[in-house]
Amino acid sequence: MKVVMKKTYVSFNALLKSVFLISSPALVVLGFDVFLEVLSLPQMIYAYAVIFIATGMLIYPFLSNVSSLTYYVNEIAQDKRVAAPDLSFLGSAAELSQALRKLQSSWDVKKKQMETIITEREILVDTLPDILIMVNDEKKIVRTNRAARAIFGQNLAGKQLKDVIGSAYLIDAIGSVINDLKGREIEFRIEDPVVRDFLAIIERFPVPTAGGISTVITMNDITELKAVEQMRADFVANASHELRTPLASIKGFVETLLGPAKDDEPARIEFLKIMLEQSDRMQQLIGDLLSLSKIEMNIHSVPTEPMDLSHVLRKETETLKRLAAEKNVRLVLNMHDNLPQVKGESNELAQVVHNLVSNAIKYGHADSDVTIGAKVTSELPQDINMRNLTRVVALSVRDQGDGIPKQHLPRLMERFYRVDSARTRQVGGTGLGLAIVKGIVQRHRGAIVVDSVVGEGTCFTVYLPIYES
Ligand code: ADP
Repeated sequence: MKVVMKKTYVSFNALLKSVFLISSPALVVLGFDVFLEVLSLPQMIYAYAVIFIATGMLIYPFLSNVSSLTYYVNEIAQDKRVAAPDLSFLGSAAELSQALRKLQSSWDVKKKQMETIITEREILVDTLPDILIMVNDEKKIVRTNRAARAIFGQNLAGKQLKDVIGSAYLIDAIGSVINDLKGREIEFRIEDPVVRDFLAIIERFPVPTAGGISTVITMNDITELKAVEQMRADFVANASHELRTPLASIKGFVETLLGPAKDDEPARIEFLKIMLEQSDRMQQLIGDLLSLSKIEMNIHSVPTEPMDLSHVLRKETETLKRLAAEKNVRLVLNMHDNLPQVKGESNELAQVVHNLVSNAIKYGHADSDVTIGAKVTSELPQDINMRNLTRVVALSVRDQGDGIPKQHLPRLMERFYRVDSARTRQVGGTGLGLAIVKGIVQRHRGAIVVDSVVGEGTCFTVYLPIYES
């Protein structure tokens, strides 16, 4: 900033008054001389005029210095930047001017420090990932940060909070914090424009700030957290239910065998067969639950070792031949020669092939084909894992079954999701097969796509990264 040194002038009145005051003793002496007839009146007037002018000339520089000093102090008081005046005629007052100059520069430094702190705080508040909304005692918004504006819109200042966030529960909670001065932590939900859950911490300042802020509301979007919580709760409920059903059936048969059917040999054999089936079902379910938990635990360790997919395909096709034969289903293996190795873990990819092919057999029509294909392709699906790839191995399992209606496709791979529960139970599924497949494919940083035409059949395609040596 440019520092200006302004010239100041002594007012004529002030000069006249000062000169008169200083020269008044001389006027008294001269008057006395006239009285004693030592001086004539014209002589006295002449002498006083000389004294008056000389006094004026002598005190002018001092008065000028005082005027500059007054101006300087006034300007500093108004936080203006002016150069310190040169007070050469005012001895100790010059030191005062020096001290004032120091005061001004130290004030400048402090002001800069304060400005820096304020800017830093503003940046901090603005870039905080938490949503911050500050309101006054009337629950009117005074300040917000960027995260708040990203969710609730721009130009929030001045609006009533209830017009911005449609939650009466939150507004009531803020009201109680304003009245009782006791902070609160609450969870609330908004329904518009989409359902969202938030955790809010409401704190009131002991005294409102100069800008009127009395209460600060910090919020976190916990929608996903809640959804995961809900999924976990559903999962536990589903798993317990799935285990309880065969267990209840086994218990029922044991009771019957111990009681009414104690000596009924044919019933005993029949019941034991059912009990074995139910135990198998429980065993399969527990096996699937363990697989799922193992996959979840390892989801972040991506397999990097090479593995031969064609070998796994041949082996699994062989294993499932018996199951296919029961329905007179033909397993057709359609593999490219010289299929490159993929990055993967044999056991897990065998499980993928097993689950997809056994589903195709289970849900395919009797006396139909299940075609298992494997080829290299550069037609990549839209998937985050396919972003940096140009070629992948595509493994497909196609059946000739009823197909899956479109509305079921988005949820098909959720745990325990079934298109037709009665049918699935009849064919003996656990409802976890596709969730396991999805988990394994995710761990391999691959992708999975389902194409289905009702009345024609379904095709699952798994895309896997090629091992480049
Ligand atoms: P399940 O053990 O019940 O088969 P999955 O997770 O393997 O469980 O499959 C989930 C649901 O998806 C099944 O219950 C079935 O309704 C449907 N599904 C899976 N594969 C096919 C398929 N090839 N054809 C038709 N529906 C299928």
